[in-house]
Amino acid sequence: MDKIYRVNMTTLTTSVDACPAAWAGLGGRGLTSAIVAAEVPPACHPLGPNNKLVFAPGLLTGTPAANSGRLSAGAKSPLTGTIKESNAGGSAAQMFARLGIKALIIEGQPKDDAWYKLALSKDGVKIEKETALIGKGNFAVVEAVQAQKGKKVGVMTIGPAGEWRMKAANISVMDPDGKLRSHGRGGLGAVMGSKKIKYITVDPEGAPGVTLADPEKFKTAARTFAKALLDHPVSGEGLPTYGTNILINVLNEAGGLPTKNFRYGQFEGHDKISGETMHDIITERGGKTKHGCHAGCIIQCSQEYVDKSGVYVTSGFEYETIWGFGANCCIDNLDHIAEADHLMDDIGIDSIESAVIMGVAMEAGIVPWGDGPGVNRLLREEIGKGTPLGRILGNGAAEVGVAYGLTRVPVVKGQGIPAYDPRSVKGIGITYATSTMGADHTAGYSVATNILKVGGDVDPLKKEGQVELSRNLQIATAAVDSTGLCLFVAFPVLDIPEALTAIVEMINARFGLKLTGDDVTALGVSILKTEHAFNQAAGFTNAHDRLPEFFVSEPVPPHNAVWDFTDAEIDEFWNF
Ligand code: SF4
Repeated sequence: MDKIYRVNMTTLTTSVDACPAAWAGLGGRGLTSAIVAAEVPPACHPLGPNNKLVFAPGLLTGTPAANSGRLSAGAKSPLTGTIKESNAGGSAAQMFARLGIKALIIEGQPKDDAWYKLALSKDGVKIEKETALIGKGNFAVVEAVQAQKGKKVGVMTIGPAGEWRMKAANISVMDPDGKLRSHGRGGLGAVMGSKKIKYITVDPEGAPGVTLADPEKFKTAARTFAKALLDHPVSGEGLPTYGTNILINVLNEAGGLPTKNFRYGQFEGHDKISGETMHDIITERGGKTKHGCHAGCIIQCSQEYVDKSGVYVTSGFEYETIWGFGANCCIDNLDHIAEADHLMDDIGIDSIESAVIMGVAMEAGIVPWGDGPGVNRLLREEIGKGTPLGRILGNGAAEVGVAYGLTRVPVVKGQGIPAYDPRSVKGIGITYATSTMGADHTAGYSVATNILKVGGDVDPLKKEGQVELSRNLQIATAAVDSTGLCLFVAFPVLDIPEALTAIVEMINARFGLKLTGDDVTALGVSILKTEHAFNQAAGFTNAHDRLPEFFVSEPVPPHNAVWDFTDAEIDEFWNF
């Protein structure tokens, strides 16, 4: 039976209850957003006792469905003030599902200064005091937990950034190789820090496992789904060969690679940091070019980047991180960027927000453009040590802009704009403006259709069709985020009709339902409306769905495109 594990950090008590009927058909983002909307006062302080931190595996997590091991984390975001869901790979999601944990809800706040850890198992959840690992980085936490509890437990942890409640702090999840994946965006690590929880372990011992209502039907649908993932050129070939970093050359060619804090759309040093170059470096040095962030991933877009001596530096080395520290900061050295990625994993801070922070820090003259070692010094010595400058930087790009009196600050609702210029990839600009979670490319990845020509072809430089494209993708994404499937399944889903049918069939075979594709769309619509209503009650209006002014006034080369949507055109997004 599915259960809700609940932890009250004010009273230091726990409970395990049957999942209420209203939440039974929800998973992942659908469930975290429903719980946050139902139980968190929209106007509360995100770091106060009234916010709640919720973890939930997806509807298909724990089954043999390919790429279904994502874990959603939700809360009111300290970075944006909006509702937030962030999903991550790693091993914990599948353990949650096999233990029958539909959701873990953490509420309240300790009255004393003590730090705690949580231990989840089939018998419930225990709260214990923690002292030894306070102040330590995420790698030390993983090492200590593995030494104490073995390599089979799941771990979710915050680094010093989360302990200091920095608004860019993330929550890291251990993957099957003992490396780290992240609930990156929105500062959920600060929420976990505000509850004074350093880490959470999940013991899968004795887990009853996931039952399938119709195992044969599930097997057939899962096979069709896996075939679609492997047949599609993006998920079957591009991502497994070059990882997401294949996009550096693609976006550079399209003139949509934000360079020098969004001044230009192309970067002279793009070749030195491209997916193709990264692939050659990893192969030459004996690293891994293919790697999954959780068991059952058959796309394997991750990799293990090693240094010149073949020693591990980082994994899950994503396009957005490489863009952000590369083109955005004019750094053309992959080793410097890999070191930054390693530092951020350990400190526990979001790599996209940090990349935008560093671009704004360069704008402010804190460190020169192109200075890779300088950026890593800021991460290690300032943010990583919690100095006054480090606290300003760790609180996000918007705060750095305020502290230094800057206007060239690429954020929406306080969250840094990621790796695609909204002037030359206009569909993604609509997603940045209207997403319920601030600037977030994953909320509705219009780049797929604007640039990669997946799911159709909408000219990235024209306004026509972008609002509708972003709306359709945001609805579909909200539904996919509820299944526990990795977002990259969207590529075959957009192009191969059997892939979507197979997802619906797998959900039906898992739960004994008769859902149709329309039901899945309705789920996506209802999630977006729930999140939007929460944000409105928190004080957000259409006036917050806007990009910074400089995108309107500054044409971006090489197309010299500007952000030219009227307010009324953007507001049309919510007309559904
Ligand atoms: S494709 Fe990449 S992000 Fe998706 S599950 Fe696999 S490794 Fe993780």
